Amino acid sequence: MKKPMNAEILKAKERLDAGKLVGMPTETVYGLAARIDLLKAVEQIFTVKERPFFDPLIVHISSVEQAKTVTTHWGKAAQVLADNFWPGPLTMVLPRAATVNEMITSGLPTVGIRMPAHPMAQELIKAVGVPLAAPSANKFGRTSPTSAAHVRSEFINDDVYVLEGGDCQIGIESTVLLLKEENNKAIFSVLRKGHVVRSDIEQALKKAQVPFEYLEAVSKKESPGHMKHHYMPAIPLILVKSELSVQEIINAAEKALNEMPDVVEDVKIQKPQNKIQKIVELKLSSDAALASRELYASMRKSAESGADLIYFKMKPAHLNEHWEGIFDRLTKAASLIL
Ligand code: AMP
Ligand code: MG
Repeated sequence: MKKPMNAEILKAKERLDAGKLVGMPTETVYGLAARIDLLKAVEQIFTVKERPFFDPLIVHISSVEQAKTVTTHWGKAAQVLADNFWPGPLTMVLPRAATVNEMITSGLPTVGIRMPAHPMAQELIKAVGVPLAAPSANKFGRTSPTSAAHVRSEFINDDVYVLEGGDCQIGIESTVLLLKEENNKAIFSVLRKGHVVRSDIEQALKKAQVPFEYLEAVSKKESPGHMKHHYMPAIPLILVKSELSVQEIINAAEKALNEMPDVVEDVKIQKPQNKIQKIVELKLSSDAALASRELYASMRKSAESGADLIYFKMKPAHLNEHWEGIFDRLTKAASLIL
């Protein structure tokens, strides 16, 4: 017998069917979801997020069958990667099918597709029966949400129904992989680093005997949405890569931040409101999987601690492949790198 639909999922489904937005828990971060076939709702995502239209949205699906409805080419490599990493934190960028409006892909001939592992996300997509376009549920350029409370605080004045799905277990956005399959060979690039790393992809392809090539450089056109600044907390974050005392950090930050432009690529750079008096260290576990789970919640908490500035110290233990996704976020979230 079919299990009756949970009341919250039913409510979220009804909202989506009515062309409204839903805060959807996933294992990476919370998404702001709309049905891909309701363009007014998709447009609303860009409006409430204040997101520019050149930054494409990821399409979330609940089965490989459904993935095949949004791309024109599902090859062997895509199947192997889906078998290995879906449901999970991997987005595959594949040729776009006409079922996906260009507003979602920012006019690109490709579409980013992901099958989330969070059971509520899966249930919701299944219940709606149509893929959901969903970027991270935060205002453009700001810290991504890893709890339902974060999403509510981002959209206090907007009509967004937020599903309570607990804290996100991965905690940073999915790895984004550009995948092309030509003459039975897979050519791939990592457009955004995340929990699934390049060596994981290569191992999976090798094991399935799929010939592949890794392409390091990708044109800006093929990989939009990579602003210099992103994920920024409400107070300045300084990424400290050199040996500096707290006083030296304060002195350098006061000088450098004053000289910086107020806005870079449409994102407002966070600067101290007053003279820097209180600064707080962002501390993360040394294990990368734990650290990524803690990252955004810790950044938000530090920003609300009454401090004027947050700093994060890079340590030798951070120099490994699994920390790269975290440093990608910290680098973009930082107002300054010392
Ligand atoms: P978000 O959903 O906010 O985590 O951001 C989605 C990101 O995925 C975008 O900013 C792009 O960097 C990437 N992305 C989504 N779709 C595509 C695509 N068709 N081609 C290249 N990158 C994409
Ligand atoms: Mg985002």
